[in-house]
Parts: sequence; structure tokens; C-alpha cells
Amino acid sequence: MTKKLYFDDPMTTEFTAEIVGMRRDEHTSTKLSARGFGVILPSTFFYPTGGGQSNDIGSIGSARVVDVFADGDEIVHLLDKELKNGSYPAKIDWNRRLANMQHHSGQHIFSAVFWHELGLETLSSHISGSAPSTIDFNKASLSAKEIALAEQKANEIIFENRKMRAYFVENKDSVDFRRPPKVDGEIRVIEIDGYDYSACGGTHVPQTGMVGSLKILRTERVNKKIRIHFVAGSQSLTFFNKFQNAAQDTANLLKVGVDDVSEYVENLQIQLKETQNELKKLREMKLNIEVDKMAQHAEEIGETWLVTKLFEKRNPAELRALAMKLRNYPNIIAVLASFDGEKLSLVTACAEGITVSANDLLQKHLAPFNGRGGGDKSVAQGGGTANDVGELFKNTTTMIQN
Ligand SMILES: [Zn+2]
Repeated sequence: MTKKLYFDDPMTTEFTAEIVGMRRDEHTSTKLSARGFGVILPSTFFYPTGGGQSNDIGSIGSARVVDVFADGDEIVHLLDKELKNGSYPAKIDWNRRLANMQHHSGQHIFSAVFWHELGLETLSSHISGSAPSTIDFNKASLSAKEIALAEQKANEIIFENRKMRAYFVENKDSVDFRRPPKVDGEIRVIEIDGYDYSACGGTHVPQTGMVGSLKILRTERVNKKIRIHFVAGSQSLTFFNKFQNAAQDTANLLKVGVDDVSEYVENLQIQLKETQNELKKLREMKLNIEVDKMAQHAEEIGETWLVTKLFEKRNPAELRALAMKLRNYPNIIAVLASFDGEKLSLVTACAEGITVSANDLLQKHLAPFNGRGGGDKSVAQGGGTANDVGELFKNTTTMIQN
């Protein structure tokens, strides 16, 4: 059984490691051979993955400790190279451990605050020292006011620099747990001095001040729960820098101060909307002029007036808009096409009262290209693939006369 020295002392990061045994695949429940060499120490400061907290990494002698995990009563240290039994200087990666402890302790603080201030129970949590950590609460949503309150209270607990104590109790009923543990026997208690008691086997900062700061980045609804994403310690600073840089870059682009960005963007949005409306009107005017010109050049065929026009790469929606406008002219039949070298788009339209059907006209024009499309007697639209559309309107007059 490995003695867990990190339980009583989470601050020691350098110690003498006594390798007393090698673990091979046949002696562990976890497959090691592909990942490295497992070694056992009688006692260790290395924290193994568990309780929502990631393992420590570091070094033992000249080997890197790449993973640490519990295997029954023993803690396996996975090394990147083989070491013989003996004493070696060992070192834990402090930055990683500190970030893990800050987030883990931050989770205790948030869970306690949400419980005391808002009556919300922590359902689960995921702790990460390198990305935002999360806690799930038994509520569907949180208001901005509730988030602000929780954040303020959590940071007050940090500024008060309360002691965080870790100790064992034999009887769980002797402690006023926020969430009573389900197991019996010896329980490890993490106490935020007089404020919160929870059962936990992780590593924590000895005083709340070491968490630095806590900031909720966002909330997310997951099923019927609310999940908060938060950062602590130096990760808060990293995120502050990230947001500050983004805000400053935006302000520089807009050539205004950071405080004026939102008002400026709001005005830009209004201007954009006005410009878009203006553009829409101008496009409409342009189409009307274009349509008028086409109608004036229509070919007289019996009682009707035929407009045919082949465009290069004109989008089908605009083609249809032109055709719809044309059919408002008396006795007009319009056959409008667009060709991009491969694809042919076609719209046909017939004015009110004309006996020719726009759909018939479409099908007849598409037939040589195996095209597809449909519509009614007023308007029809379709397309196909083609190599050459030079003779597209060759028989249009005959189609109308028959
Ligand atoms: Zn804990």
C-alpha cells in the first residue's frame, strides 16, 4: 500500500523517491507496456488521477513521470524509461499541480457559495488546470444577477484567505457535510474554515487566497442542468489577457477607445441596415429599368410579345425576379436563361390571359438538355447541364404559335 503524502502536504514538490518495485502489465489492471514503465514507491507526493482531478507529472531521477494512477491500494508512477530499484530525486511539475489545486479548490468554493447563497446542489464537476473547469448544478438556468452574486461571494471567500483544512473522521455524522458521503468508515474532510465541509480525496490549496481569483466565463444548459465554466489562478489572467487583446484589437480596427466599442458597433449596425435597405431599393430600380428595356424590345408574335434573353452567370433568383416583373406587361411571354458554361438555368413567364403555358414552354426548352423543372401556366423554372446553348431560342417562336 502506497502512503499518500500529498494528503497532509500538498505543497511539497521535491522529495526522495524510493523505487521498490516495477509494475508490468500482468501486475496491474491498466495496460502499461505501450506507454512506459510503472514503478511503485512506499510513499509518494505524486497525485494520481481521481476525484475529478488530473494526475501530477514530473520526474524521478532521469526519467519523466508521464502518468500517475491508483491500482488498488498502490499508486503506479508511469516512467518514460526503466529505472532500477533505489533512491532518486523526484520533482513534481508545480505549475500543473498549482493550476489543478487552484481549480479544484475553486470548485469547492463555488459549490459552497452556490449552496449557501442560491440553495443549488452540485451534481458533478470536471476540473482542468489547462482549460476552463465546469460544475453542474440542479437548476435549469441562472440569471446574470445570480451569476454576479456567486462570483462576488466566491471572490470574497478568496480575499478572506480562509484556511482550507484536510483531515480524516471516523464517523460521517460528526461533520455537517454540504453533501453527505454515501460511503461509511474513514472519510477525508476538506473544510473551508467554518464555511463548508465536503468529502474529497484531492489536493487543495492550504488557504483560499492561493486560488487567486475565480471567474465564470459562461453558463450552458445541459439537459435540465445548468453548467458553469470557470477559471481560477493564472488561468484567469490568461483569459483576461485574451479578452483584453480581442477588445483592444477591435477598438484599434474601429479607431475608437475600448469603452466606446459597443456603442460604435451599434451605430455601425444601424448604418449597415440603412445601407442594405438603400441597396435593395436601388437594385429594384435597376431591375425595373432593365425589364422596361426588355419589354420595349419584345418581338411581336401574333397577339403576344416575346422576350428572350440569355445571360451569363446570372443567379436563378434574379432571373425569376426579372420574369415576374415582365409578366406584369400586357401579353408578354418571357423566356430568360443563364448559362455559366456548364449549367443552364431557365425561367419562363406568361402574362395574365395568355393561352400559352409557361410550364409547357419550360419543358420544351429543357427537353434538348435533359433538364428538369416545373411550374404553372404563369411561371415555371428549371435547369440542366449543357455544352452549347447557341440554339436555345431557335424554336421559341414556333413553340408559341403551336
Ligand atoms: Zn476536493
